[in-house]
Amino acid sequence: MSNRSIVLTDSLYEYMSDVSLREPSLLLALREETAELTQRSMQISPEQGQFMALLVRLTGARRCLEVGVFTGYSSLATALALPDDGRVIACDVSEEWTAVARRYWKRAGVDHKIDLRLAPATETLDALVAEGQGGTFDFAFIDADKTNYLAYYERTLALLRTGGLALVDNTLWSGRVADPEVADADTVALRHFNEVLHRDERIDLSLL
Ligand code: CA
Repeated sequence: MSNRSIVLTDSLYEYMSDVSLREPSLLLALREETAELTQRSMQISPEQGQFMALLVRLTGARRCLEVGVFTGYSSLATALALPDDGRVIACDVSEEWTAVARRYWKRAGVDHKIDLRLAPATETLDALVAEGQGGTFDFAFIDADKTNYLAYYERTLALLRTGGLALVDNTLWSGRVADPEVADADTVALRHFNEVLHRDERIDLSLL
């Protein structure tokens, strides 16, 4: 057995998508619309959305947090996987990108499950803690500005219930975290973030 994951070539990626992807048509439409934007690389991949939906169902999540909405692919995938009374509190600062998200949430008939908060996410998360919502969330997805990851993480931990699940995107930063030549602010922040979580005995951890 190999001691590490195999390299994902284009042909293997295509094969994997062919034999496993079950992308709802509205998620596909949203992905195609987002592909026209210059910031398109900020969107999660379809297999990641499918994996998130699996985790939402597997954990029986009802109350979810999302830090970083962009055009709404991950929140839509999450909301589609939630029961009808499930809720996502979605944090972002961009009116422009979340307008796209809102359009798709509505078309998918899940807009009642998503509560968009347009403000810096640290403020939204602090307000939730102050309102007494600490320990009440089941599931969280952090995918926003990398230099604030630790701030989002601490607040997310306060809001998650014991046994809750937090997913954090881009922790390997396309491999740049392991390249000593790279020292930009985002890469340095992600390296620090990974080291802090490795030592954090409050959590169980898996880095994929
Ligand atoms: Ca991301």
